[in-house]
Amino acid sequence: AFLLHQRLSEGQIPALLPLTQAEREHCRNRLVGQVAVITGGASGIGAATARMFTRHGARVVIADIQPSLGEKLLKELGPQAEYVECDVRKEEDIEKAISKAYELENRLDVVHSNAGIIGCVGPIDEVRIDEYDATIAVDLRAAVIAVKHAVRFMKPQKRGSIVITGSVASVRGGMGPHGYTVAKAGLLGLVNSCAAELGQHNIRINMISPELVSTPLAAFALAALAEGGSQSVTVDDIDRIVKQNSMLPDRLLTHLDIANAALFLASDMGGYISGHNLVVDGGKTAAHVLQAGGNHWSTK
Ligand code: NAD
Repeated sequence: AFLLHQRLSEGQIPALLPLTQAEREHCRNRLVGQVAVITGGASGIGAATARMFTRHGARVVIADIQPSLGEKLLKELGPQAEYVECDVRKEEDIEKAISKAYELENRLDVVHSNAGIIGCVGPIDEVRIDEYDATIAVDLRAAVIAVKHAVRFMKPQKRGSIVITGSVASVRGGMGPHGYTVAKAGLLGLVNSCAAELGQHNIRINMISPELVSTPLAAFALAALAEGGSQSVTVDDIDRIVKQNSMLPDRLLTHLDIANAALFLASDMGGYISGHNLVVDGGKTAAHVLQAGGNHWSTK
């Protein structure tokens, strides 16, 4: 290191080497030849991730219960993408989607367990346990199933990356309804527990925890909050609320930010990262404030 520093300071080595053509290609094509499955991939964050993964060269299986949205996305993404009808509440559906992905190229590189619902809302003393169970089935149990079947293919190939969509509700209360919050916090346990086991098989598992971003799920959540669900919420409404509460008020959190995080964790860019929860919230969780406006201790 000393010699390198000396050579740098003597100008023998330019401080910034220009990228070679191969390196430039590598920056663009992070998932070339790879195969990925994205549950809940027909809409919102999952669809943005499908666009990102295919742009980086992957073949992607979109596993969802919205065939018309899925087909629309396939038209946009072309032959690199496939749609599989998959209700993540059913183990056999998840198994089928993951097997289908594996059969494309006899490999499985990335599984992104992303499907989610807001689920049951209301105060804890009124929670309906059947609705709570239904929320857990989509938001937590399905991720366990996805990891189980991903690992069955990834272990023999001694390689793989699993990404799970959590939420800021994974780490803080009051960011979503009770069932949703319990499920999203449970995902952290799943990631920690599996990271401890899977490293020896060269399988990484990580989580992304986004703040509010404009999707049908976010619109549903905000409508449920506003007047007990009697109001509809538009994309503009969501963007306004996101901006009002942002720690980075000059910039809106978008699907692309989440898809970038997914690409980073899924690909070799995040190659030494496992068991991590990547919170994508502009710093709000770290700052531990509910609203923008900064650290009150730093105002005079
Ligand atoms: P979205 O509604 O656009 O997408 C959710 C997708 O999950 C839909 O395509 C839906 O069809 C699918 N889905 C729901 N139930 C399913 C089932 N039983 N089987 C298969 N697919 C099913 O919403 P989104 O915001 O993109 O949600 C994606 C993930 O992001 C969810 O896990 C959500 O909790 C998480 N998230 C979203 C936000 C946000 O503000 N939008 C914030 C934090 C976390």
